[in-house]
Amino acid sequence: MKLATVNDNGNIKAGMIIGDEFVCCVEGEGADMAVLSIIRTGDVASWDAIIDTAERRDLADVQILAPIPHLIRDMVCVGKNYYAHAKEFFDSGFDATQKETIPSEPIIFTKAMTSLIGPNDAIDASIDPTDSVDYEGELGVIISKTARRVAKADWQDYVFGYVIINDVTSRELQKKHNQWTIGKGLDTFGPMGPYIVTKDEIDDLPSMQIQTLVNDEVRQQTEIRDLIFDIPTLIETLTLTGTLLAGDVIATGTPVGVGIGFTPPKFLKSGDVVTINVTGLGSLTNPVI
Ligand code: MG
Repeated sequence: MKLATVNDNGNIKAGMIIGDEFVCCVEGEGADMAVLSIIRTGDVASWDAIIDTAERRDLADVQILAPIPHLIRDMVCVGKNYYAHAKEFFDSGFDATQKETIPSEPIIFTKAMTSLIGPNDAIDASIDPTDSVDYEGELGVIISKTARRVAKADWQDYVFGYVIINDVTSRELQKKHNQWTIGKGLDTFGPMGPYIVTKDEIDDLPSMQIQTLVNDEVRQQTEIRDLIFDIPTLIETLTLTGTLLAGDVIATGTPVGVGIGFTPPKFLKSGDVVTINVTGLGSLTNPVI
């Protein structure tokens, strides 16, 4: 099932994407929280049950929003989590925390919930005074229920589904402030969408591909199997001492091919369009202004 939240001529609606149509399951008050409610209850069957009678809209006639328009808290993110990207970041000179090329433990940070935008919303590069805006195509994991001390073998029980995230970053701010909160948390630097795909629709996670294009140029193209710390390891690590909650989002890291991997760096500029395709998860496109 593909869960989405849309704006239909000023009315927020939540439901499912089927083919080229949006199937409306909830509208009116609370529709902006309906996808989060389904994650919390796990009751996707209640939406499935009304497929045949629900209102349908052509996707072309609605604006798709971030599937969870109001995150419950900042996104949990993983730094330097693909082998070839870890090397390109280390070699770029922008890694203020660098001690080793390949991290021995997961590098965890958070990305401000206020950075969130939806598909086709603009990434406002003018907010970055250092003109060093970079893209990071990533697989996002949506947590299904309260998770503490989760053993690797049980990781699937705590995953609701998956979504595409662009962990847009100001490289100079990331470097200058040592920790990454400011460099990753700029307003509009958190595109997410177009929908959440429930885990039952994903049968071969390692073989899924992340592909990022800037305009028509392919910049990133890597399979999920190249993760340094896989999703079971990340969930085990994050819940060994702390708690993940239903609706939490983990951005699992970006593969090789970011802008600072090029010499000279290829930073995003006004007029660019960034598209991230992930196998089975659709396509997330955002213009840069
Ligand atoms: Mg990232």
